[in-house]
Amino acid sequence: PIILSDKEFLNHEELHYPFEERGLQFGDGVYEVIRVYDGNYYLMEEHIDRLFRSVEAIKITMPYSKEELKGLLQQLLEKNQVDLDAKVYLQITRGSAARDHAFPVDVKPNFYAYAQEFSRNLPAMWNGGSVMSHPDHRWDWCYIKSLNLLPNVLAKQEAKENGCMEAILHKDGVVTEGSSSNAYLVRDGKVYTHPAKKNILHGCVRMRVEQFCDDLGIPFVEEAFRVDDIQHADEMFITSSTTEVTPVTHFDGKKITTGSPGEVTRKLQYAYEKDAGIPTAK
Ligand code: PMP
Repeated sequence: PIILSDKEFLNHEELHYPFEERGLQFGDGVYEVIRVYDGNYYLMEEHIDRLFRSVEAIKITMPYSKEELKGLLQQLLEKNQVDLDAKVYLQITRGSAARDHAFPVDVKPNFYAYAQEFSRNLPAMWNGGSVMSHPDHRWDWCYIKSLNLLPNVLAKQEAKENGCMEAILHKDGVVTEGSSSNAYLVRDGKVYTHPAKKNILHGCVRMRVEQFCDDLGIPFVEEAFRVDDIQHADEMFITSSTTEVTPVTHFDGKKITTGSPGEVTRKLQYAYEKDAGIPTAK
């Protein structure tokens, strides 16, 4: 593939980083994953805004304006002739410099982005899946989409080894979010999710779900729930750019209600598909 590196387009084999690169050595950088449907970016503004917020929070100076970056990302799709479903990964690090924890003087950020074909996992989105609880070992600033993903990686692996699609993270029993998704439960027709505080990632899909709830007259309650509340939930679901709105049917080995996707979840799934201009998962 052709990748975007700084402001140039290169064959991916031409991208070389020095061994002293701060993303590699310190995880000193941030990233985004943006969805492409039928050759068009979905929620591009939201992702770009979040990237700029992440970059600012860790005191990296963004080398582009938002408009310039959008133009370059558009060209990335054209150069790779992406006209179907894909995901675009972008990352920016503080740069390459002699290893020292403190910020190096006059260091130039490293940026790259690439597009990869990606198809919707239709059976998972339609039938839903199982999740398990896992302690949230992350830091307090998860609103920054940082490259430091070790706690997320370890939690997801644990989920995988237990036949689950996601690890639902909790701090002392309070559910924050999934290892790579936002988490919601539905009770008495209301959708509950952790407030968009600094200790969770403010998902772009989460923002849309709030809007869909408003449009559909479903109360969207930003109130954290506990692991113990899940056994009394009517429905549960997770969202992310890659999993969209995915129903959760089992939590820690127990069925949620009947163990099949719920009505409210389905409505939100349809709302997502309509908004993204894509066919229903069924
Ligand atoms: N929380 C975490 C920890 C994530 O990694 C992701 C996926 N990027 C999300 C939530 C969902 O974010 P989005 O809807 O922007 O993909």
